[in-house]
Amino acid sequence: MAENLKGCSVYCKSSWVQLQDLCRLAKVVCPDLGVTRRNLSHFEVEYLCDYKRVREEEFYLVKWRGYPESESTWEPRKNLRCPGVLKQFHQDLEAALQRWSRPGRPRRPPLHGLEPLVAAYLLQKAKQRRALWRWECQLNAKRSHRGRITVENEVDLDGPPRDFIYINEYKVGAGITLTQVAVGCECQDCLAQPAGGCCPGASRHRFAYNEQGQVRVRAGLPIYECNARCRCGPDCPNRVVQKGIRYDLCIFRTDNGRGWGVRTLEKIRKNTFVMEYVGEIITSEEAERRGQIYDRQGATYLFDLDYVEDVYTVDAAYYGNISHFVNHSCDPNLQVYNVFIDNLDERLPRIALFATRPIRAGEELTFDYNMHVDPVDAESTRMDSNLGLAGGLAGSPKKRLRIECKCGAPACRKYLF
Ligand SMILES: [Zn+2]
Ligand SMILES: [Zn+2]
Ligand SMILES: [Zn+2]
Ligand SMILES: [Zn+2]
Repeated sequence: MAENLKGCSVYCKSSWVQLQDLCRLAKVVCPDLGVTRRNLSHFEVEYLCDYKRVREEEFYLVKWRGYPESESTWEPRKNLRCPGVLKQFHQDLEAALQRWSRPGRPRRPPLHGLEPLVAAYLLQKAKQRRALWRWECQLNAKRSHRGRITVENEVDLDGPPRDFIYINEYKVGAGITLTQVAVGCECQDCLAQPAGGCCPGASRHRFAYNEQGQVRVRAGLPIYECNARCRCGPDCPNRVVQKGIRYDLCIFRTDNGRGWGVRTLEKIRKNTFVMEYVGEIITSEEAERRGQIYDRQGATYLFDLDYVEDVYTVDAAYYGNISHFVNHSCDPNLQVYNVFIDNLDERLPRIALFATRPIRAGEELTFDYNMHVDPVDAESTRMDSNLGLAGGLAGSPKKRLRIECKCGAPACRKYLF
């Protein structure tokens, strides 16, 4: 039998880490896996679940990676070489004690472990952190843009959202085709010496950017970027949105019932491109149908592409990028623009969000879900972009319920729709 199987190989379904754990469990040295005689008995702390103090010594209940919870053991602090895990555990412990502390009750170091309520909370918190960390790794593995994504929830015990798939560009729905542009520009220098007005000129529009890549046309006017057929290279100043998200951003849990939100970890200059609103492109009829389902579920992420006519909608409910998590504000710091790059079909613009003002590192990013560009002239009135709504609120872009706004801006309209 064994001879017959010679030369056969199958992919291993276990991860490297799992195989190392198996070696340690079986006390087998395997240099190929990095399990040596010296580190054979080094086990990895997955998380800490409980804490006690016996005389002056601190002990932690350790959940070991690769072992079930039933095999967790109490270890003195001196045995643990995981400063990061310890620090996080004590921060969470402090928060939990504050949460369940009763006035007038002295806080004595626990002798036999923490109160069950506190220990249960810490266990959940540890599992949540692990789940969020895994999700963060997944998001970063899927992104094709420069800006890193971090995930943070210091507010409640909610883990990663279910049924959300990170994409970097539009996912085109059944029966819809994006036609690739057939012509590009022939400029020597698209900004300084545009030939025939460069790509924007070919569509009878203005060049949208300055040398720093900041948008200089009024909101409501379209942006035409250089495309795959243009003579210019990747450093052309007319290539901005197509380069993707540049800033490091954080998906965080808001503390006032607005679900997840997004904050920037870097300062952002006024009029700079921040992110695109991507999702699945569907027909408006399909959007109507989904809108009713989303209504019943209490959330929708539908953005009508009504630059020229209302034929298509972007649905970012299941497929989306970080914009899926950006909240609404009546006084937003991001502004929507319609952008055309490799597809010039006016019914299918790309939706790009630009900073309306300088944004500090740490500030939450928001845009107006119910944005209307002031109709300064006849041309701009048809450029209104209208997002259904997002962020775990109830309603539909077509048949809207009145939804209370929690944005907190002094100029808040009080209702989203
Ligand atoms: Zn050009
Ligand atoms: Zn061009
Ligand atoms: Zn160019
Ligand atoms: Zn508001």
